[in-house]
Amino acid sequence: MNIVIFGPPGAGKGTQSKFIVNKYNLYQLSTGDLLRNEIKNKTELGSEISSIMNAGDLVSDNIVSELIEKFISNNKYKNKIIFDGYPRNLKQAKNLDKMLRSHGQKIDIVLKLSVTLETVKKRILERQNQEKRADDNEEIAIKRYKTYENSSLPILDYYKGFDLLKVVNGESTISEINAEISDLIDALKG
Ligand code: ADP
Repeated sequence: MNIVIFGPPGAGKGTQSKFIVNKYNLYQLSTGDLLRNEIKNKTELGSEISSIMNAGDLVSDNIVSELIEKFISNNKYKNKIIFDGYPRNLKQAKNLDKMLRSHGQKIDIVLKLSVTLETVKKRILERQNQEKRADDNEEIAIKRYKTYENSSLPILDYYKGFDLLKVVNGESTISEINAEISDLIDALKG
């Protein structure tokens, strides 16, 4: 099974992905983590993208697409991927379908975590104290939320059209959300 977890920055995608990975033996593919690794390792790509990420903008589709392709084409991960942070715009969503199709795979469910801008701001400021991410401050958090609304939200209609979309209340407690997600995945496995 391949899952897309979707939602604004600070919605809890990473937290819920880790839970799903453990419970269902999947692999988390976080484009944000992969990109941050490039910056941490001071690669050429890392220096190209750091200012874009730190401004709360999206890295170019081609760069992210390459990272994704490496994962999808690896048999170890076949039908065992949770996409966290990808797709982030309609072009990426269509590209993901195409890449999966060419490797004999598809998306089985899209889980959307709904949270308000107020919650996003609160959680990002809390995370800032722990993780020290360069893009976790109030101003950039608001910018990332706007990027989400403008670029990412239109994907939802696309997935609705394929009847893949399930909306989960991201304001509940972590364990309540865990339980809701498990129910949705179990129903799918039937
Ligand atoms: P969050 O969901 O909290 O915004 P992520 O770690 O998912 O955090 O993403 C951090 C940043 O990485 C984004 O603001 C963007 O600059 C870049 N990024 C991550 N995924 C993508 C993607 N699919 N396309 C373009 N840029 C991306």
